[in-house]
Amino acid sequence: MSKTLIYNAEIVNEGTRFHGYIIIDGEFIAKVGEGSPTVEEIGASESVIDIAGRMVLPGAIDTHVHFREPGLTHKASIASESAAAVSGGVTSFIDMPNTKPTTTSMAAVADKKVIAAGSSYANYGFFIGATDGNLEEILAADQSEIPGVKLFMGSSTGNMLVDDNIALSHLFSSYRGVIAVHAEDEGALADARARLAAQYGDNQPVELHSQARPAEACVKASKRAVELAKRYDSRLHILHISTAAELALLSTGDISNKRITAETCPHYLLFEENDLARPDGFMLKCNPAIKSAADRDALVEAIADKRIDTIATDHAPHLIGEKQGTLLQAASGMPGVRFMLQEMLTLASRAGNELTVERVVELTSHNPARLYDIDRRGFLREGYFADIVVVEQAATPFTPEIGTYLPDDEMSPCNWTPYELTLVNHRIWQPMSMVSWHLTVIVSIEWLLCR
Ligand SMILES: [Zn+2]
Repeated sequence: MSKTLIYNAEIVNEGTRFHGYIIIDGEFIAKVGEGSPTVEEIGASESVIDIAGRMVLPGAIDTHVHFREPGLTHKASIASESAAAVSGGVTSFIDMPNTKPTTTSMAAVADKKVIAAGSSYANYGFFIGATDGNLEEILAADQSEIPGVKLFMGSSTGNMLVDDNIALSHLFSSYRGVIAVHAEDEGALADARARLAAQYGDNQPVELHSQARPAEACVKASKRAVELAKRYDSRLHILHISTAAELALLSTGDISNKRITAETCPHYLLFEENDLARPDGFMLKCNPAIKSAADRDALVEAIADKRIDTIATDHAPHLIGEKQGTLLQAASGMPGVRFMLQEMLTLASRAGNELTVERVVELTSHNPARLYDIDRRGFLREGYFADIVVVEQAATPFTPEIGTYLPDDEMSPCNWTPYELTLVNHRIWQPMSMVSWHLTVIVSIEWLLCR
């Protein structure tokens, strides 16, 4: 096994920050040391890299992506999106089931696993989607093969809506793993659609999206999910929280002590509904909709004070042409996996909030690993996989051509990003000297074992 030594690092891990070094042996971390390495440690390492005081974090784990394969590969593929992920410091991802065919059987999970084994640049895991007919199969499955069950309460891209009380009660009372919920109430969505249709007909402008998918729909469905989880002591994880009102359903504290946890995404922390009226604002159409500035500010507080437990992207690429047109025509969803870490670090560096870099690492690495009990990832620890990301603070604002070490044809067919609308002052460090190290990690990519 060849040893790599990274030294002169600002290590951020498990709530602490210190000057130190890391020894990587093959695909694992052999040592996380404080201060400087010894002469013997330097001598025993084949490759020694001075990273000149840059920040070193555990690789981020994005537990909510839509990589579109199989079936929607004109938009994206596991290869293209995992390449984008790695170039953004996301070394593991968990993909959602609304592909074609839908991932609603263990055979479909196995099919995706085969695709990823042959093409992914990052570690991978796949949710199974709940339908009103596959509970027996989910319960009979080897639970280490899936991080949990994805439940759509509220229709979105793909058709896996479970809205029936009996089916929901069965799922919440019998499934003991994580139930990850898209919570928007279908009735409230239908009412909002009817209101807009009466007012605008078919010609509804895209900036009305937060009226078409209003806060009430989120609150109503999240309440229903929380009631079910409390009644049956289920392990509920509410995805992409977008409203301040839903925060009242959540408690603060460490993720390990909670039965009900929650995720939000960078776009709900950085944008607000009026941004959809900007010239490129159509890019921000996503489900749930981006809500008010007050919601955005409340969410930033909630990620800092531990009411919200994880950050994920809900990375959902479409071709730019598919995003055009009226509210009824434009596709919902946006890419984000390449920018999550940079955006979150930028947010932490901004004055006026309590967010720290240590907390960002908890939200993007530690807590996703704890939530799904992912085997030996999400922390910089001896014996853990060497999923490591080096970050530097850049003085200049964001430019989209990130991902320099991967050939262009591996990057996403969806080559647009809403994050051009923001300024980012952190970059994932990718000097040429790190290329071989990245490739070492890529060779060891594998299935995320959820214990
Ligand atoms: Zn999603």
